[in-house]
Amino acid sequence: MMEEKWEALPQAKRFHAPLQAGDTEEVTRGCRHTDPDICSKNSMPGVCAFVREDGMCHAPPRSWRRQYAKLKALAEHRSSEGLRWK
Ligand code: SF4
Repeated sequence: MMEEKWEALPQAKRFHAPLQAGDTEEVTRGCRHTDPDICSKNSMPGVCAFVREDGMCHAPPRSWRRQYAKLKALAEHRSSEGLRWK
C-alpha cells in the first residue's frame, strides 16, 4: 500500500514524501528531485534511479541530506505518538 502511494505521487511532491524503505542520507528509493530534467546526473548509469535496475538513486539532490533528517525526525515523532502516515 505504501508503495502504491509512492508510485502515485507526482514527482514534484516526492521530495517531501515520508521516508521510504531503503532511503538513507545518501540513497533514495526512486527520484526525490523536484525537477529531474535539470539534474546533471539524470540517467547516469549506476547512479540514477531511472536507469538502475533496483530503482535507487545514488545521487539525490544536495538538499536531500537535510530533508532526510527532517523526515526521519518527523517519522520518529509520529511513531512515538502512535500515529501513522495515511
Ligand atoms: S540522479 Fe537521482 S536525483 Fe538525479 S534524476 Fe536520477 S534519480 Fe533523480
